[in-house]
Amino acid sequence: GHSLVKISSEYVKSFEVEDKLMPSTWIVLRIDGRHFHQFSDKHEFKKPNDERALKLMNACAEAMFEEFPDLVFSYGVSDEYSFVFKKTTELYNRRSSKIVSMTVSFFTSVYVMKWKDFFPDKDLKSIPSFDARTVCYPSTKIVRDYLAWRQMNFDLHLLGKGVFIPTDYKLATAFSFVGHINNQYNTCFWKLIESGMTKSEAQNRLKGTQTQHKNEILFQLEVNHSDLPAIFRKGSCVFRGKVTE
Ligand code: ATP
Ligand code: ATP
Ligand code: MG
Ligand code: MG
Ligand code: MG
Ligand code: MG
Repeated sequence: GHSLVKISSEYVKSFEVEDKLMPSTWIVLRIDGRHFHQFSDKHEFKKPNDERALKLMNACAEAMFEEFPDLVFSYGVSDEYSFVFKKTTELYNRRSSKIVSMTVSFFTSVYVMKWKDFFPDKDLKSIPSFDARTVCYPSTKIVRDYLAWRQMNFDLHLLGKGVFIPTDYKLATAFSFVGHINNQYNTCFWKLIESGMTKSEAQNRLKGTQTQHKNEILFQLEVNHSDLPAIFRKGSCVFRGKVTE
């Protein structure tokens, strides 16, 4: 027959993969909505920018700052939010899977709990979910480049021109002078649709166009991109302000 075997916990544990993030580096966590193209259609988000949806994302980011004290900066656009943890954070012993799973499930729960505050007239018709990943960046310059990349997606040649992440807690009004090019593309796209083009005609019209060219298209359509609210053009950021005593 079988004898009772005592299994050592070290033995079973030894199969777990080490995923501790590099010490003394900024940990950037990016959370992104899963299938939000469909989710936004289903919930009739205003195209290309639904302000209430953006504000709900911002509220989730604020809740993150209340929950995780080592967060210093965050930047959001569309269905994504990037969070920067301070270099010295020891959150969950810097274990990536713990940080990712804990934060993304927290973020998602807040999204669901706060949905009605922002969409009192709309029921949640499907279950929202988000993916997340962590990346370590060794210098503020690279964090800045990362954020510039998220902000601009399309026009990478603008990198380094204006977006900055301040070092200590003087986490200032970043993003005040760089337009959000990705958003400019979407604005163009939806304006072309409004003017009667099909989706593929609009895509072809915009293929390979530079910022200046897109501005001209918008101008012809009598839209001045810089007149759009900043939340659409630039995205949002949440950060901890320094309290002066
Ligand atoms: P994946 O699961 O791969 O992330 P996705 O459908 O979420 O797929 P994304 O590249 O993340 O694709 O794009 C998100 C999409 O969600 C946008 O293209 C847009 O259609 C929609 N969306 C997100 N936020 C808003 C908003 N505030 N207003 C209008 N549409 C939005
Ligand atoms: P951690 O964040 O480290 O996981 P924890 O407080 O969640 O801390 P666990 O070891 O996961 O600690 O234990 C979960 C605890 O939640 C249990 O000890 C118990 O107190 C409580 N709990 C969970 N499920 C139930 C349940 N069905 N009935 C009563 N108590 C429960
Ligand atoms: Mg995604
Ligand atoms: Mg998405
Ligand atoms: Mg996205
Ligand atoms: Mg537990």
